[in-house]
Amino acid sequence: MFDAKKIREDFPIFKKSPNLVYFDSAATSQKPRIVIETIKEFYEDYNSNIHRGVYSLSLEASKRYEEAHYKVAELINADKKEIIFTKNATEALNLVAYSYAFYNIKEGDEIVTTIMEHHSNFLPWKKIAELKGAKLKFIKLNKKTYELEFDEKIITEKTKIVALCFVSNFLGIINPVKEIIKIAKEKGAVVVLDGAQAVPHLPVDVKEIGCDFLAASGHKMLGPSGTGFLWGRKELLEKMEPFIVGGGAIENVKIDEVKWASIPWKFEAGTPIIAGGIALGEAAEYLKNIGMENVFEHEKELTNYCIERMKEIEEVEIYGSSLKRVGVIPFNVKGADPHDIAGMLDSEGICVRSGRHCTHPLLDFLGIESSVRISFYIYNTVEEIDRFMEALKRIISYLK
Ligand code: PMP
Repeated sequence: MFDAKKIREDFPIFKKSPNLVYFDSAATSQKPRIVIETIKEFYEDYNSNIHRGVYSLSLEASKRYEEAHYKVAELINADKKEIIFTKNATEALNLVAYSYAFYNIKEGDEIVTTIMEHHSNFLPWKKIAELKGAKLKFIKLNKKTYELEFDEKIITEKTKIVALCFVSNFLGIINPVKEIIKIAKEKGAVVVLDGAQAVPHLPVDVKEIGCDFLAASGHKMLGPSGTGFLWGRKELLEKMEPFIVGGGAIENVKIDEVKWASIPWKFEAGTPIIAGGIALGEAAEYLKNIGMENVFEHEKELTNYCIERMKEIEEVEIYGSSLKRVGVIPFNVKGADPHDIAGMLDSEGICVRSGRHCTHPLLDFLGIESSVRISFYIYNTVEEIDRFMEALKRIISYLK
């Protein structure tokens, strides 16, 4: 049985600050004890570099680091060798842009994306389009419902890449990715999914979805900061050139010839974030043990409850009425600056995000200057939403 209050006990931050209401997990999640202890254990028990030494300490670190990749692979039903650790989702998306798209896009080709992308899944494609003389095209977004209106004609024989978010970080809406991927594959395009807001919150099976690449942030799925990953199809990864080159990425180097290491290591040049990577593996296993269906259901319950309660306040405007969403709710209080609302909530011990959410093109398109955003995760409870509601009502009454 899923029990958020019990799960909360696994997070040392809530032990130290029992009254902390953390509603900003879409930015980064809190970390369970197992993740924190795994990092401590690495430095205290077997700190060493990986894939270099033949001594047992280094072999232990290498084994644990490799196993962490397999644990992440298991969470998304990927092949063991198809997971590349990066420092965040941004690096994973840039890896696809510069190791795949840079070599496979030419002048006149098209990249299809959406206006709702996080800057990390917009700027790499804008840059590639500029460098290669390709055209960026945007799947239509309905201004009233904030849902994508996918017309398959947007994907043509010239489309080489379709890059979009599985879940929007501003709206929390789950996009109809399977429908889009089906058409993209029929047209021979490669599909890059930004899974930063999906992998932590819902069951993701890369084999079933049918995309070619999936990027995610380790730090938003209970892993340490400085972690993220890219999943890619083996056939593509094997043919790709590495994006960052150097030690650890090679099998053999001569002055005039390089043989790259096998995947995923050819994409992980230099000393990686070893402790962080091992701890990310523990985070993935922790989530798998809870069950991603349970995570998704819990967030759905919290979100539906919170949206219903927020409707009690007439000054509150919520963006996006779709129920196909994870636990993300963007809103504004009429006549109030979102940073002021966030600041006042903070003085009541409630952490929320305010601003433009790294989605400037989307906010410009929707005509929203900025907003408050609350986001939930496995450790949040209905009681915290009640506390948030009382605080929000109090704040609005002061502002009147
Ligand atoms: N894409 C989406 C949808 C996101 O929400 C974020 C983080 N806010 C990113 C990409 C970038 O992730 P990271 O900070 O791990 O690079």
